[in-house]
Amino acid sequence: MAIERIWADNPARNFHYLVACEATGEALAIDPLNWQAVLERAQTRGWRITQILNTHEHWDHIGGNEALRAATGATLLAHAGALGSIAGVDRGLTEGDVITVGSSVRLRCLDTPGHTYTHICAFDEAQPALFSGDTLFNAGVGNCHNGGDPEVLYETFRKRLSSLPPDTQVFPGHEYFARNLGFTLALEPSNAKAAALLERCAQLEPADMPVTTLAQESEVNAFFRLQQPEIVDSVSRSHQPLPERPAARDIFLALRALRNRW
Ligand SMILES: [Zn+2]
Repeated sequence: MAIERIWADNPARNFHYLVACEATGEALAIDPLNWQAVLERAQTRGWRITQILNTHEHWDHIGGNEALRAATGATLLAHAGALGSIAGVDRGLTEGDVITVGSSVRLRCLDTPGHTYTHICAFDEAQPALFSGDTLFNAGVGNCHNGGDPEVLYETFRKRLSSLPPDTQVFPGHEYFARNLGFTLALEPSNAKAAALLERCAQLEPADMPVTTLAQESEVNAFFRLQQPEIVDSVSRSHQPLPERPAARDIFLALRALRNRW
């Protein structure tokens, strides 16, 4: 499997992806809003885009579908529940479905509601990689403002994402490193790994940002650090209502609410 991450260079700071089978040159485009940039990258690599995957129905993930399909004839894949909100879907996906690219790539679909109710993440087991859309970002998680639910998002993290291998690389739908690391550090000022990563990211252009793993996320992403005393303490001192003995779920929900205003 070969992966290209493409910086959309837009205000929403989208990342797009090409996932290709090197044996056949066939490629899957993920959330290709800036479809020209995606097509150009495929041409540079000598790949043929045969499929498009939308992780979810938001405009900044589906807006390039039509033009890229016209240019390539690719088929369109999206959550089976999103057929009413995404035009022209050829294949509806559910939990456990497999997306095959060429002869060597097999991505397993994870049903990951929370950011929206019809959100799909794609996971490659052979070379652990998670195309996480707006569910999981580098150092943060998606918001639930536009058709989502934080309690559902927490369950997605607990049930679907927590069991993936620690060496899984994370390929999200947006570049939000600095904001997310800043949030972690606001709650956990002693987090030296988050501080070091933030310093490194400050030197880089968005297109050159690092790729994190889930192991790294557990070190720098506040939403993976729900039991850390410093984070629990910071949340308790915020004005976010909490039960007397907060469980991981309570901290996650409080963090999501705090991040909304941060
Ligand atoms: Zn979204």
